[in-house]
Amino acid sequence: MGKTLYEKVFDQHTVEKLPSGQYQLFMGLHLIHEVTSPQAFSMLEERGLSVLYPNRTFATVDHIIPTKSQLRPYQDNLAEQMLVALENNVKRHGIRYFAPENGEQGIVHVVGPENGLTQPGMTICCGDSHTSTHGAFGAIAFGIGTSQVRDVLATQTLSMGKLKVRRIEINGALRPGVTAKDVTLYVINRLGVNGGVGYAYEYAGDVIERMSMDERMTVCNMAIEGGARCGYINPDETTFAYLRGKKYAPSGPAWDKAVAYWKSVRSDPDAKYDDVVVYRGADIEPMVTWGITPSQSVGVGDKIPTVESFSADERDSVAEAYQYMAVAPGSPVAGQKIDVAFIGSCTNGRLSDFEAVVNVLRGKSFKVAPHVQALVVPGSMQVKRELIKLGWDKIFEEAGFEFREAGCSMCLAMNPDKLKGTQLSASSSNRNFKGRQGSPTGRTLLMSPIMVAAAAISGEVTDARKLFAIES
Ligand code: SF4
Repeated sequence: MGKTLYEKVFDQHTVEKLPSGQYQLFMGLHLIHEVTSPQAFSMLEERGLSVLYPNRTFATVDHIIPTKSQLRPYQDNLAEQMLVALENNVKRHGIRYFAPENGEQGIVHVVGPENGLTQPGMTICCGDSHTSTHGAFGAIAFGIGTSQVRDVLATQTLSMGKLKVRRIEINGALRPGVTAKDVTLYVINRLGVNGGVGYAYEYAGDVIERMSMDERMTVCNMAIEGGARCGYINPDETTFAYLRGKKYAPSGPAWDKAVAYWKSVRSDPDAKYDDVVVYRGADIEPMVTWGITPSQSVGVGDKIPTVESFSADERDSVAEAYQYMAVAPGSPVAGQKIDVAFIGSCTNGRLSDFEAVVNVLRGKSFKVAPHVQALVVPGSMQVKRELIKLGWDKIFEEAGFEFREAGCSMCLAMNPDKLKGTQLSASSSNRNFKGRQGSPTGRTLLMSPIMVAAAAISGEVTDARKLFAIES
């Protein structure tokens, strides 16, 4: 019987089976940032321990960094203190730090892949939920808590149970104007936010295989939003082509050896899965969330579902969502007036995400609606430089978008980019929980970058295919 990639990578990284029934798993790569690492370093030092593998530990600053001006010291004293703590810790422990002053900073899940740190067959962890992003390369990648960050710093291992594996096939082709973000939102809608609990998600099928690495990262990024502990895609020629020549990717004779290993970890054709679900790419519409979880979504042409369409045990949370979002069940999701538009985050802050938007704006006279504040926030300084080199920053600015510095920005709003009051935001990020974008009463609609751009221009939730005349 063949094995899945998950089983192969898990087994190869198992140090030992623990008496608890869990496994001690070696972590090939540990990514750290300023929010979840300071306490972990303090705990380490309280016990007189050092970082066991500084050469497998890489740091960046992303959550708290301002996007209007990154001049130091930051106006937010707490943010400044967190960054100083990170700077001191990486210096003390000899950890490679992608620093803003070197033009290397960015969101941890953008910086790792763009530097070639994220590779197939690896175990990867980071004190951030969306570490599942790295699974796009055929790695098994987990978000971890602060005490686990401490454990990995000290031992380079984690204790974990084995997951079940669900294969999610998306077959056929997507229709024009439908993106990787719509695919991942669709899957969460179908399987629910808890549908993946206890599972690793293996994404497969024609639609996934045709995706670029950026698109695959968008899909895997949100595996965690469907409850899965991690999500991955089997590595293939697209993966290898992306990695070739990247700073930390193998080169010379080591390249061929690495590719042979990467191919060997692919799921075997006769691998056994705990569950298999199959969807048709042609059934997927541009998706928009209407509620307070990423599964509460519909196609842009659809209506917000009525309470009767939910099971009895879902109805309380659905009623809470209607009330918080101030939406009427049965009304169209399109046409809701927005206040803010945000294109960025580790879900959709890579070059091709901005390219998709530039392709619909270029040569047209589209302008952001006067009542909308629209932010374009590159996922990393490298992405920003590429955007400027291509002249795309000007395209955004001429259309009325604010072109900002790299960071997490309004995804989590641990920086000055925050919603105010009950503002409604069209966002390319990954969470629409209550208060996620910085105001305790702020409201978030998740959608793809071109859908955010369409909403920014129309001033309301709009089908991007109609506004931008995308042929279907
Ligand atoms: S962009 Fe959002 S989800 Fe991604 S690392 Fe930053 S805060 Fe977390």
